[in-house]
Amino acid sequence: MALIVQKYGGTSVGSVERIQAVADKVCGFRQRGDDVVVVVSAMSGETNRLIALAKEMQTRPSSREMDVLVSTGEQVTIALLCMALEERGCPARSYTGGQVRILTDSAHTKARIQDIDDQPIRADLKAGRVVVVAGFQGVDEQGNITTLGRGGSDTTGVALAAALKADECQIYTDVDGVYTTDPRVVEGARRLDKITFEEMLEMASLGSKVLQIRAVEFAGKYNVPLRVLHSFQEGPGTLITIEDESAVEKPVISGIAFNRDEAKLTVLGVPDIPGVASRILGPVSDANIEVDMIVQNVAEDKTTDFTFTVHRNDFEKAEEILQGVAQELGAREISGNNKIAKLSIVGVGMRSHAGVASKMFAALAKEAINIQLISTSEIKVSVIIAEKYLELAVRSLHSAFELDAPEVVSES
Ligand code: ASP
Ligand code: MG
Repeated sequence: MALIVQKYGGTSVGSVERIQAVADKVCGFRQRGDDVVVVVSAMSGETNRLIALAKEMQTRPSSREMDVLVSTGEQVTIALLCMALEERGCPARSYTGGQVRILTDSAHTKARIQDIDDQPIRADLKAGRVVVVAGFQGVDEQGNITTLGRGGSDTTGVALAAALKADECQIYTDVDGVYTTDPRVVEGARRLDKITFEEMLEMASLGSKVLQIRAVEFAGKYNVPLRVLHSFQEGPGTLITIEDESAVEKPVISGIAFNRDEAKLTVLGVPDIPGVASRILGPVSDANIEVDMIVQNVAEDKTTDFTFTVHRNDFEKAEEILQGVAQELGAREISGNNKIAKLSIVGVGMRSHAGVASKMFAALAKEAINIQLISTSEIKVSVIIAEKYLELAVRSLHSAFELDAPEVVSES
């Protein structure tokens, strides 16, 4: 008998029929003797609908009132799911975030969980009930309703699993697991049986939107085994866990992540003197623009080029700021490019294998794809390339690192 926390996302509870199907599934686990705590999202589209309603009332509604509003979506699904469970003879009880006392800080719309009282949940489980908790929401010291940021129900699930020391936190969604890369781009993309927290974080932050990043961080920190599964298809899903030190044959690369969200800016001919990087990036960060990759080369003469990337939405603003900075610094000129894509190979196996980056570069060279920027970390190599080559690049790397599913014959 296990204690399992199951989280069902918006599409999994998107209609009456689907909520009923979830109830059938939960009943099945109960009948096998497991203790089950269920976390649900709002019905799909509901949170967006509520946000749209708010915009009709006020141009800039306060974040406190936004939380009162958007938290209602999840309150609907917990009650409906409990009714469906009771109808099936499966005793169940619903709780809002405030009722279980998921205590958060007061940062409305992006609150962080500080503490969870697991006693009421344990008492219900002991009495043979399924506990259904509203995802995405909590309550602060003063009793105000808070929410955890979009996609926050994942975090609720993980936090409850950590507080209850559950055997597993299962995230049920509309995909059957985490893939080596986006199956829409690479036909041979494969579901991974297992991936480490670290790798998942890299994949998630690079745009694989299966899980909320914060939920993965939380799971890693408290070592909660996380499993991503399809809500209505049978299958083992993908287990996200700690690195298996004993595994003999670890894959070098677990996945390829990419995004088209970034833009690149270069200040050319900046004087090679102390303080320049800070004078360039200071005003950028003052304008609340996040910088991702940063590259500066060693200067041969007395000037150097300074390149960095920002979110595409911040491109124009950053360029404008740089115009001013460049003049002050006596830099030669500024160039920018927002038709770029970032592509990364990710894998903990990189730590123990040499030549991973050169293999990546060789595969790109074979397709005559120019690399504009390179950055690396212990378990990741990222490059910036022209956006128009992105799909070709992902496909060729996927086969170069032998990630393709066996039944698919690769073209390259
Ligand atoms: N309903 C919330 C959202 O759409 C939370 C969640 O689904 O995880 O962001
Ligand atoms: Mg979600």
